[in-house]
Amino acid sequence: MSLNGKTAVITGSNSGIGLGIARELARAGANVVLNSFTNRDEDHALAAEIAAEFGVEARYVAADMSKGADCRRLIAEADCDILVNNAGIQFVAPIDSFPTDKWDTIIAINLSSAFHTTAAALPAMREKGWGRVVNIASAHGLTASPYKSAYVAAKHGIVGFTKVTALEMAGKGVTCNAVCPGYVLTPLVEAQIPDTMKEYGMDRETVIREVMLARQPSKEFATVEQLGGTVNFLCSDAAAQITGTTISVDGGWTAL
Ligand code: NAD
Repeated sequence: MSLNGKTAVITGSNSGIGLGIARELARAGANVVLNSFTNRDEDHALAAEIAAEFGVEARYVAADMSKGADCRRLIAEADCDILVNNAGIQFVAPIDSFPTDKWDTIIAINLSSAFHTTAAALPAMREKGWGRVVNIASAHGLTASPYKSAYVAAKHGIVGFTKVTALEMAGKGVTCNAVCPGYVLTPLVEAQIPDTMKEYGMDRETVIREVMLARQPSKEFATVEQLGGTVNFLCSDAAAQITGTTISVDGGWTAL
């Protein structure tokens, strides 16, 4: 499959799953726009590395996905054929002590950013008669865990938003789907381990085995390359009639 000539914007892509997806899209020939809010030399260097490795155009655009205007500017600065809404953060606490500012930020980055980027990207996709929107939701978009109220609410929200986007774009060559990963060992997951250790009174290995992979029947983390491959498939012609749905990459979690 070739994505030559297509441009993909991947939000939150200087690390983890977003970077893995950007690399796989570039491997398939797409030009890529990397994003985060950090704007460090290393962020621009990542784009240069992808350009050199895969022979595509790659650049980094700083934009804060917690701010609607930044989300829309990111899309305005790119000729976006493929939009991957991936930026996301996590915070773990019981509902009655969940900090309000953390709730607001998680909803802004994990849910509202996708509204702003999608709203900005759809008119050009509709005009071209081709487009792909892929929302990186989570197994937590289909099921819940204690202490992750904002994250689970945002991820369920993005699954609903995916369906609405698909319906509004149906028959226009533009599809929208959500990918629902189980656990992938990225910096986001690493950062949850200390809080979860505290919450459950467990050591690191026990948290990984008993809490994180407890619900992942394969007992293996999914990889960023597998997620990139899934996004590539959703961008292919074979997936032209797949829209408004979720694809789980979770080692069987949601089959339980
Ligand atoms: P990560 O922490 O490695 O990456 C998160 C990315 O989001 C980073 O590139 C970061 O720079 C970016 N980001 C954070 N705040 C931002 C902001 N305000 N503006 C712009 N960019 C911002 O985490 P990850 O595990 O790669 O997570 C990526 C996505 O995958 C998230 O939406 C997450 O919810 C989802 N997900 C991850 C897992 C997992 O197990 N790792 C499982 C299911 C879903």
